[in-house]
Amino acid sequence: PFEVLVVGGGPAGAAAAVYAARKGIRTGVVAERFGGQVLDTMAIENLISVPHTEGPKLARALETHVREYDVEIMNNQVATRLEEVGDGFRITLASGAALSAASVILSTGARWRRMGVPGEEQYLNKGVAFCPHCDGPLFKGKRIAVIGGGNSGVEAAIDLAGLAAHVTLIEFDKILRADDVLQRKLRGLSNVTVLTQARTTEVKGDGARVTGLAYEDRTSGETRELALDGIFVQIGLVPNTDWLKGTLALSPRGEIEVDRYGATSIPGVFAAGDCTVAPYKQIVIAMGEGAKASLAAFDHLIRLPAA
Ligand code: FAD
Repeated sequence: PFEVLVVGGGPAGAAAAVYAARKGIRTGVVAERFGGQVLDTMAIENLISVPHTEGPKLARALETHVREYDVEIMNNQVATRLEEVGDGFRITLASGAALSAASVILSTGARWRRMGVPGEEQYLNKGVAFCPHCDGPLFKGKRIAVIGGGNSGVEAAIDLAGLAAHVTLIEFDKILRADDVLQRKLRGLSNVTVLTQARTTEVKGDGARVTGLAYEDRTSGETRELALDGIFVQIGLVPNTDWLKGTLALSPRGEIEVDRYGATSIPGVFAAGDCTVAPYKQIVIAMGEGAKASLAAFDHLIRLPAA
């Protein structure tokens, strides 16, 4: 059995694995896709001390660092079940195999909800973006749209309005759902236009980059087009925790509830990164949370009665 079994191989999981292995305890990592969301990213410019890198390169660096230690990496494996068995835990994989561990660190990350319209996939990282903190500066002085009028969409629009030449906020519904204070702030900005009852139907591009989008004006049924350099999709970040429902405490949004040590509602099970309630989903934050959860798991293990 493993002393620490990490489920998820993104920045949080990689950091957790390195910290556990450095304690000399038997460590394993199960990952559906080692590297995680980083693999889908192009330019990364906010990982402090690394002024510029690219997703696939950072993913390789994460793996190289973990492999410096005696860590068993089980890639392309999906965990489907977590159970308490005796003093420890059993993780069942989609393959049918089961792994046992004295402690578990959950770092299964999250995924940005997509619009599901033509052009969106094709222009990912070529104008279609999800993270204003990450990609905002790429659109300095440009025309952009933000899709979604909830808190994250309106926050993104306010943030991006400080960099971009013009921001169009597009909301499907009649009204924005963001907090009033954010809406007031947004409406006070001279370079922001808000469109409600607008359904995005297509991301337009020239083959290399985004050139605009098409939307249906739901009041008239007409299709209109906007010329744009970028589109930030802000319609939700979904944690990869479906398989944990009913097992441990999740927030109403499905994020794993953790305390300041990364401890979940089950003693011996820790969680870190985008799958948790920790705010601000970023690589540098996921790495820090992974390291913290791993040290907390170690503290837990050294307090267990000797077997
Ligand atoms: P993830 O990276 O999501 O990793 C989750 C891991 O868990 C993966 O290995 C996944 O395969 C695995 N997994 C999921 N479910 C299971 C399961 N059931 N069983 C086994 N394994 C499972 N952040 C920045 O700081 N700077 C940026 O420039 C930046 N740009 C971004 C650009 C894009 C397009 C996207 C999508 C995100 C970007 N982010 C950026 C955010 C950043 O990628 C995330 O905050 C970070 O990757 C979170 O790390 P994590 O380890 O918590 O989760």
